[in-house]
Amino acid sequence: MTKMTNPDMVVTMQRCSAIVTDEGGLTAHASIVSREMGIPAVVGTQFATEKLKEGEIITVNGYNGKIYKGKISESVKKEVHPVKAETKTKLKLIVDLPSFAERASRTGLKDVGLLRVEGIIAESGKHPYYFLQNNLVKDYEEIIFKGINGIAKYFDSVWVRTSDIRSDEFRELDGSPKDIEANPMLGMHGIRYSLNHPEILKAELRAMKRVSQHGKKIGVLSPQIISVDEVRKLKEFVKEIGFNNAKIGVMVETPASVQIIKELCEEGIDFVSFGTNDLTQYTLAIDRGNEQVQNIYDEMHPAVLHQIEFVINVCREKGVETSICGQAGSKKEMVKFLVEKGITSISVNADVASEIAEYVSEIEGSLNGEGEFSGKKEVIDSENNEIGDDEHKSKDLKNEEEAVKEKENSKVEKEKNKVEETPIIRGAEYFDNQESGAESVEGLDIF
Ligand code: PEP
Ligand code: MG
Repeated sequence: MTKMTNPDMVVTMQRCSAIVTDEGGLTAHASIVSREMGIPAVVGTQFATEKLKEGEIITVNGYNGKIYKGKISESVKKEVHPVKAETKTKLKLIVDLPSFAERASRTGLKDVGLLRVEGIIAESGKHPYYFLQNNLVKDYEEIIFKGINGIAKYFDSVWVRTSDIRSDEFRELDGSPKDIEANPMLGMHGIRYSLNHPEILKAELRAMKRVSQHGKKIGVLSPQIISVDEVRKLKEFVKEIGFNNAKIGVMVETPASVQIIKELCEEGIDFVSFGTNDLTQYTLAIDRGNEQVQNIYDEMHPAVLHQIEFVINVCREKGVETSICGQAGSKKEMVKFLVEKGITSISVNADVASEIAEYVSEIEGSLNGEGEFSGKKEVIDSENNEIGDDEHKSKDLKNEEEAVKEKENSKVEKEKNKVEETPIIRGAEYFDNQESGAESVEGLDIF
C-alpha cells in the first residue's frame, strides 16, 4: 500500500502479493508494471493509505477494483494462455521486464512491439545519469544489453524503445538528477533527453545493435517525437554506430507527431507505434497519473480516434507500418476500431493476448470484404521489408461457404464461453469472492 508506485519501485513491487495506491490511473506506470508482473492492483483509491492500517490483512480484487477486509479467499494463479486464433492483423507483445519475459512468451507470440528499457534501468537501481557522471557509460550499455537480450531470447523480433524517463518517476535511483520540474509530463524526457545526452543514447543503441548481432530483428522506437529533426538526429546516431540493420520507428504519442506524420514518413522511417497513453493525455490535456481526472480520461475520445485514423491512412500511403503499444491496444473497443481502420499490428499485454487474438479474428471475419480493412489489406511488414497482399497467416479458407460456416460456429462457441471484459487491472491472480459475503472497505470500491 502506497500513495503512488513509481517505476523505480519495480524491485519492491516484485515482492508484493498485491498493490493498492492512493494516486494514479490505469495508464500510470504502476498499473502497467503490476499488470506485466501479474500482481493484482487497485490504483487511484484516494484514501487507501488513510483507511488501511499498517499490517492490516486485506484481500485485493484486481478485476473489480475492490478491497476487502481480511483474507476472504485463497489466491488463484491465472495462467497466460497460448494464442490460438489466426489473424491478418499481427499480434505483438508488450514486455518490459526480463524476469517476466518467459511468462509473456507462453502466449506463443514471437514479436515484441514495445520493450521499455526503463524496466531494466529500474532493476539496476541506477539512473542513466549516474553512469554518465561517473564515466561508466560502458557499464550502462552492458546493463541495457543484458536486459534486452534477456527478453529477446524468447522472441524473434523486438522493438526497443530508447529511454523515456520522467524526472518525477525515477527520483529514487542512484544518481538521478535532483531538479524538480513543475510539469514532468511536459519536461525533459524521451527523445529530447536522449538528444541532450547523446552518450546515453548511443550506449542504448549499441546495446540494441549487439542484440541484433545475436540474430534478433531489432526496431529502434523513439518516444515523445515532436519534430522531423529529432528523427534525423536519431538516425545519424544509428548510422554513426554502424547499426545498419536497425528498423527505425516513431512513437505517435504527441499531437505534434500526428500533424507532421507525412513529413516523418518522408524522412524515412519503417514503422510508427501509437502511444495512446500519452496521445490521450496530451490531446485531452488530462494528466494520466492524476486519479481526480481519470473519469474523463478516454482513449476512445473522437479527437484521439480521429488522429489515429489520419495517421494510419497517411502511413498506408507512404508504405510505413502502423502499430499500437499503448494500453488501449488491450481493450476490445479500441481493437475493433484499429482493425477496421487497417492497422498493421497490435501490441498487447500477455494476460489478454489470446482473448484479443480471438476478438481480432472475429472482427476480421465479420468485415468479410467490407470496410477499410476490406480483407484485401495491404500488409506492410517492416521486419521483412516487404509489401504484400494478405500475406500474414491469413486463414486458408477454401471457399465462401466454408468461411460462412466457420464464422457461424465460432460465434456460437464464443457465446458459450463468453469471456469477461478486460478487468480494471488484471493480475495473474484473482480472488473469487462472489460467494464470500465479504464487505468491501468502505469508500475504497471506487471503480
Ligand atoms: C504510451 O504513451 O502509450 C506508451 C506506450 O508509452 P508510456 O506508457 O511508456 O508513456
Ligand atoms: Mg508514452
